[in-house]
Amino acid sequence: MAKKYSNAKLKQFRKSIEKRMEEIAEDMGDIHDGILDNGNDSEGSSQESVFSVHMADAGTDSFEQEKNYLLMGRESDYYKNLEIALDRIDDGIFGICKICAELIPEERMLEVPNATKCVGCKEKEKLGLV
Ligand SMILES: [Zn+2]
Repeated sequence: MAKKYSNAKLKQFRKSIEKRMEEIAEDMGDIHDGILDNGNDSEGSSQESVFSVHMADAGTDSFEQEKNYLLMGRESDYYKNLEIALDRIDDGIFGICKICAELIPEERMLEVPNATKCVGCKEKEKLGLV
């Protein structure tokens, strides 16, 4: 019989993953707003005030923008990973090492919900042993 996490445990994992997805969605909303604030000023109705703010820190603007896009990318990657983790729960393969088919410890799955390998196998893979 293949090992797997109990349904109760999977429910817990799902809850914690969904909570994190909510947090990320919120964060991304904030970052997105930041990008809009710094970016598309031309469609704003209060052109003048926008313009004067722009004059004040024109130098930091592009930097802030870049940082925000970077952040967006990172957050959305993480979000995708969490979606994948949820798929794995649905498929009943969540927390099972792809290589040795042992259960990946709970702490690791909470830390890296989309992990598909246990730490031991990951290390071996890094060393080219699997
Ligand atoms: Zn393994």
